[in-house]
Amino acid sequence: MERFRHDLHAWLDEHRDELAPDYERPGTLDQHMAQMQRVKSILHAAGWMRYGWPERVGGLGGSPMLRTELGAALAGRDITDPGLFSLIEVLAPTVIDFAPQALAAEMVPRLLSGEEMWCQGFSEPGTGSDLASIHCRATPDGDPATAEQWIINGQKVWTSLAQYSDRCVLLTRTGSPESRHRGITAFFVDMNTPGITVAPLEMINGEHEFAEVFFDDVVVPADRMLGSLHGGWAIAMSILPFERSSCFWQRIAYLYRRLQRLVDVGRDDDRTAEVVGNAFVQLHMLRSRSRVTQHRLASGETLGAETSIDKVLVATAEQSTYDAALRLLPEAIALDDSVAGELWRSEYLYSRAATIYGGTAEVQRNIIARRLLDLGADE
Ligand SMILES: Cc1cc2nc3c(=O)[nH]c(=O)nc-3n(C[C@H](O)[C@H](O)[C@H](O)COP(=O)(O)OP(=O)(O)OC[C@H]3O[C@@H](n4cnc5c(N)ncnc54)[C@H](O)[C@@H]3O)c2cc1C
Repeated sequence: MERFRHDLHAWLDEHRDELAPDYERPGTLDQHMAQMQRVKSILHAAGWMRYGWPERVGGLGGSPMLRTELGAALAGRDITDPGLFSLIEVLAPTVIDFAPQALAAEMVPRLLSGEEMWCQGFSEPGTGSDLASIHCRATPDGDPATAEQWIINGQKVWTSLAQYSDRCVLLTRTGSPESRHRGITAFFVDMNTPGITVAPLEMINGEHEFAEVFFDDVVVPADRMLGSLHGGWAIAMSILPFERSSCFWQRIAYLYRRLQRLVDVGRDDDRTAEVVGNAFVQLHMLRSRSRVTQHRLASGETLGAETSIDKVLVATAEQSTYDAALRLLPEAIALDDSVAGELWRSEYLYSRAATIYGGTAEVQRNIIARRLLDLGADE
């Protein structure tokens, strides 16, 4: 790992100018997306995007922790937006594990090389925390066991980057509504299929990072099913360990960088020491926990409910960091980003969502209480 890190940083130093954003900071979401895809393409051509991914999907093999090193290095150097980049970690491992092998071998390199973007179609209006109650329906064109295609009707919401995406990992209802998690099937859907409408939604920070997605008689070939019929819950569950381990490392690197920036711009007084110190403790706690989780993942352990602890810690650390920013740079947050020439305001606003996306803080605490501490069963 030391050797990898050393070589990676040497290479990043050497290619600093080529990798730097070609727009004036802070830039728009369109520019961040274009920058990320450009950087992925350069890193893929040089091999760095392929380390830690299996050879059967065009990777160079090795521990998944090589991927976390790359993500952290990019975030630490402000080369790409860490939130956007981390979506690779959320979706690619699941497609590798559940898609037919030829499909994964064809698609994963496109994601890693910046040729494509993918999105995650899970949440629906009224169905976020209680994912087992989704309604978006897939109906077989014929007998379910032999149908060559499925027809999808329904709606998703809060689908991050849907308007930039070429494919979607989509959860659909294939059993009766009462079947709950036993009647869900996942599909890997081309976003340019007729019948799909994407309507971007404005977030509190003014960006249009997520969208409503409507499915109107959308025809999907049966070989785009991920996993088995009615086996979609396994896909939803398989995403969680990655969403809460390898994914966090780059976020942590970025938050350290933001804290350092607060130290640089803050005054040398007790107030700065107190608020930055508090955020630093939260961040360090998260970092220690997350490293253990990554080691467990890398050694092949199956991660489960205990990753809810990591999720609570990342949300707490993120919000503490930006609470510190609010106390030390109130004008940058209250007015607009241009005050400090950085993204403090929109990052502060985005940090409020850290206790919502990927499972809310309340739901994580329920899981910790019920499944880890045995404090009573789900109702
Ligand atoms: C920035 C962002 C990006 C997102 N990206 C995606 C994406 O790409 N794909 C996707 O599918 N989804 C995405 N989501 C949606 C996200 O997964 C949901 O918002 C989240 O799961 C919560 O669901 P909900 O919004 O329906 O809220 P609800 O489930 O309606 O919850 C409302 C409130 O009730 C509380 N609550 C609910 N159930 C319980 C309970 N049993 N016990 C205690 N409290 C409870 C919640 O904690 C919350 O405070 C994103 C969300 C955000 C904010």
